[in-house]
Amino acid sequence: MYKQNIITYLQQHRFQYLNVANLNVNRTDNEKTIEDKLIQCYQHLRILCSSDTLTKNNFQEFQKRINYLKEELSKNSNLHLIYADFTDSSFPLSTILVLPSLKQTHNDITDYPSSRFTAAATISLEHQKSILQSVNTTDPSIFSTLQSTPSVNTINILLLGETGVGKSTFINAFVNYLKFGSLEKARTGKPIVIISVSFIATVGDHFEERIVKFDDINNSNNEDFDHPGESVTQRCKSYLFHLDKTSTNILRIIDTPGFGDTRGLEQDDFNMQHILEYISNLTHLNAICFLLKPNTSRLNIFFHTCITQLFSLLDRNALNNIIFCFTNSRSTFYTPGDTAPVLKQTLISLSIGDVPFKKDNTFCFDSESFRYLVALQNGIPFNDDEKHEYEISWSTSVNESNRLIGYICRNVTIYRIDNKLQSMKRAQFEISDMVRPILETLRNILRNYILYKMNLLRTSILLCPRVNDQFFTRCLVCKPSIHSLGDFYIAHYLPHKVEKKCCNCTCLLDQHIPMYYVPEYKILNDVSQYTEKEMINRLYELCYASAEFAYFLLYDARSTKDNPFFIGFIEMIAIETEICKNQTSSTLNSSLATALRDIADKHENRLNDIVRWAKSSNLSDIYNLINTISNYDMVCEQLAAVKEGRKIMMKQYEYEFIRI
Ligand SMILES: [Zn+2]
Ligand SMILES: [Zn+2]
Repeated sequence: MYKQNIITYLQQHRFQYLNVANLNVNRTDNEKTIEDKLIQCYQHLRILCSSDTLTKNNFQEFQKRINYLKEELSKNSNLHLIYADFTDSSFPLSTILVLPSLKQTHNDITDYPSSRFTAAATISLEHQKSILQSVNTTDPSIFSTLQSTPSVNTINILLLGETGVGKSTFINAFVNYLKFGSLEKARTGKPIVIISVSFIATVGDHFEERIVKFDDINNSNNEDFDHPGESVTQRCKSYLFHLDKTSTNILRIIDTPGFGDTRGLEQDDFNMQHILEYISNLTHLNAICFLLKPNTSRLNIFFHTCITQLFSLLDRNALNNIIFCFTNSRSTFYTPGDTAPVLKQTLISLSIGDVPFKKDNTFCFDSESFRYLVALQNGIPFNDDEKHEYEISWSTSVNESNRLIGYICRNVTIYRIDNKLQSMKRAQFEISDMVRPILETLRNILRNYILYKMNLLRTSILLCPRVNDQFFTRCLVCKPSIHSLGDFYIAHYLPHKVEKKCCNCTCLLDQHIPMYYVPEYKILNDVSQYTEKEMINRLYELCYASAEFAYFLLYDARSTKDNPFFIGFIEMIAIETEICKNQTSSTLNSSLATALRDIADKHENRLNDIVRWAKSSNLSDIYNLINTISNYDMVCEQLAAVKEGRKIMMKQYEYEFIRI
């Protein structure tokens, strides 16, 4: 009865009824897959998802959603409203939802403000003065529509720039511009220092030098990318800022190692690969921001490489997400100055398409006013003229910051990364992630095959990847420890923790590679779960696939000169040989060494065949193969561990600031 009332009520408000129990949705789904399934069937629509219980317990909220959607319908008569009833579905819906969420904002509905945040930025000057104010005064229930898909409301800004351009100061300054509408407010309030700053200020008539310092609020020793010092482990870092009380709107600034590294182009390339890898793990990007100085007569040579490489991962749709920010532009009256013609020239020379560079996507700041603020806090005196000038500089920068956020929310379509985007670069990263899992799988099948052949039918070895709970590496120099496992000996690598140097050994940092999971083993007192034929088939399939992947990395993506699979085989063979030398009764390991040699030969022969055929791989073929191999249970489990481990690592380099 209750349901019938609801349906009638909804029909009065022009909602179509949809019983989710009749759709292919079950308890293995998540909100993302449900969204995809629902959206696939219907376009131009808004789907209100709820269940009888949810509606009953949150009726006010339910009604609010309906009113909001009705308002939308009055503006767009093409819109179709649907009520998706989850009452009889096995999926445990926990909150009332409206789909599509922000990320599904298709081009055909871009005129619809994607969130109230956007609308607030366009409504009035009053609101523009402070994003914070506008968010605070907005009805929070609007945001809660999206609560269950938290990444949706994160504004991701990728910040790129030459070393020394002032990225750290810019990030510090930018969040303070968002928080404090005027310098006076910042002075009396509590400025946020995200990355510790220190610089020399000259005081008085004799230019006395004084060191000005301000430590970051977390005291987290955030590495200043502008002054990298000795560290070789520069990694992307995310700074997250909550833009409202409900924590549903988060600004994430991704700080990247600067290019133009003093260690040379090779280091730049290395850093860029890391940046690309980092981005490919994000859900989306709102803006790709290049930070530049005005009045440069020459752009860094790596700027060209950086933007070209970026677009080997992303497609042309991301061109519109590019923005340019200029620091220290007080001297050029808040314009890009002489950098403009140089930049224009460089952008024209790019083969990736038209990169927009116009007033709309260009923002001029003056980070000097932030330094002034820090100097003031350190008790450095200033005269009235200076004070006045920095006040103007601050408010100009505040306007630019708000214009930037407004532009990103209003004018730019969110660039999705977690969709089916296929590119050479993406395939390269996916394959690189698969190298270790494929090798470990091959080795373990060989172990079980050997046990089977020895008629040790009552034992098999199960590979169980264990995700490291923090970011660890494996040292390529340090020797593993050897443990016995049934009739086998197994090498175990101790995970090394690296900070500025390795905490576990004295080997160089560049001898350490990321180790997202530890392969652990269990002896099963049971026959292997695969038959002999299955084991042989799988060995061949994995071995041939590894040759295809190696070919792709070496000749199509040209991402490496060395075949990572072959290096892995050599390493595994070396370990087994070493074990045989040092352990008595290591017959099985000796068989394993022989079997690994055989597989390595097969791999190499197959690779040579492919080279002889000289067929360049078709991207969709490679993706098909990636999908097939990723679905093999043992590979699949390890890949999941890699993804999980990488998430943990990214989280470790994430700094969250509650409310700015
Ligand atoms: Zn070591
Ligand atoms: Zn180490």
